[in-house]
Amino acid sequence: MSKQDSRPAGFRTRAVHAGHGLDPVTGAHAVPIYATSTFGYGNAERGARLFAGEEQGYFYSRLSNPTVRAFEEKVASLEGAEDAVAFGSGMGAASAIALTLLTSGDEVAFVGPLYGGTEGLLRDILGRFGVTVREAGDLEELREVVSERTRLVWLETPTNPTLKIVDLHAASEVARAAGALVVVDNTFSTPYLTRPLEHGADLVMHSATKYLGGHGDVIAGVVAGRAELISELRLHGLRHVGSVLGPFEAYLLLRGLKTLPLRMEAHCANAAALTEALQGHPALGALHYPGLPTHPGHEVAARQMRAFGGLLSLDLGSVEAAFAFLDGLRLFTQAVSLGDVESLSCHPGSTTHHLLGEETLERQGVTPGLVRLSVGIEDAGDLIEDVLGALERVPVAAGR
Ligand SMILES: *Cc1c(COP(=O)(O)O)cnc(C)c1O
Repeated sequence: MSKQDSRPAGFRTRAVHAGHGLDPVTGAHAVPIYATSTFGYGNAERGARLFAGEEQGYFYSRLSNPTVRAFEEKVASLEGAEDAVAFGSGMGAASAIALTLLTSGDEVAFVGPLYGGTEGLLRDILGRFGVTVREAGDLEELREVVSERTRLVWLETPTNPTLKIVDLHAASEVARAAGALVVVDNTFSTPYLTRPLEHGADLVMHSATKYLGGHGDVIAGVVAGRAELISELRLHGLRHVGSVLGPFEAYLLLRGLKTLPLRMEAHCANAAALTEALQGHPALGALHYPGLPTHPGHEVAARQMRAFGGLLSLDLGSVEAAFAFLDGLRLFTQAVSLGDVESLSCHPGSTTHHLLGEETLERQGVTPGLVRLSVGIEDAGDLIEDVLGALERVPVAAGR
């Protein structure tokens, strides 16, 4: 499906076909793994033209590789973007954005909580180079912290692990008014559920490790957006920083993306069924899922998401109760990461978020009893039985 003949095809069709056709040399139906570091350019004249950017072509796999390129084009198509660039991890993508677009004296504003690694990158690393971070808790606070010094507004929705919903359209307007670019980390929603560029974002990034790959067998990242921004990221953030995606990983991602819509439907349906089964359970202090009408972001989520996602979090009141619950699960593997076909469970306060410190955790609502569930695509009945069984091991706190 080349750019020229792309009639607007549906999302599922693009997930299967976009970014590649038959291999031009052999007719191979699956995209070949081009395991090569360098590409002969044939003659010195052509080499000079390639390096001058006067001719498009492959010459070194740190900048571009045919298998990786097919993955980039598929993601660009799914996000409705002009172009995309792949990285060796989600953090590789985030650092490429930060190191390409930020300079000393700039400010980055975000609606917290952000993914722990992203916050660490912005505060601890960019902070040493004169970049200042301004945290907001919601849209109102974002309006207050954004100024003419704000270069980037960094957003995630739903947020990790509290599943707060950020209104992308409204937040993008706040950023635009200040002349800032909007970066949306779309890892939790995927382009099947939300396409941030349609809501005013300038760049959308992913930890492709999660739902895009979907099978828990690859670490990868990708950024999509306007061609001019993506080529800046490729020339600086990729070429000079070097978090490169390998062709084998790109092959796995291409394979995973073909079933993204089918997997997301199953993840969302299972998460909704599990939420329904858990409502009102006496061991639960709180249940965070944007599909619940009582969730504070429910209306915005219903507007900007196709369905409510595959993640939910439960508050069990204490670390002890959370650990007892986690240790009682059989199908939900205790592991960080999310978005795999397998169900996963974790205690953010002591794992993914423990570096943030008590004060930040409390401010961001990452309570000691909070457990995050990444609901897989297994049978809903089995998942419900597993979770209800594990809840039986949780002592019901006095007075609840
Ligand atoms: C996992 C994750 C990242 C980091 O991605 P890696 O592929 O692990 O480097 C960034 N943002 C979000 C929301 C994530 O869940």
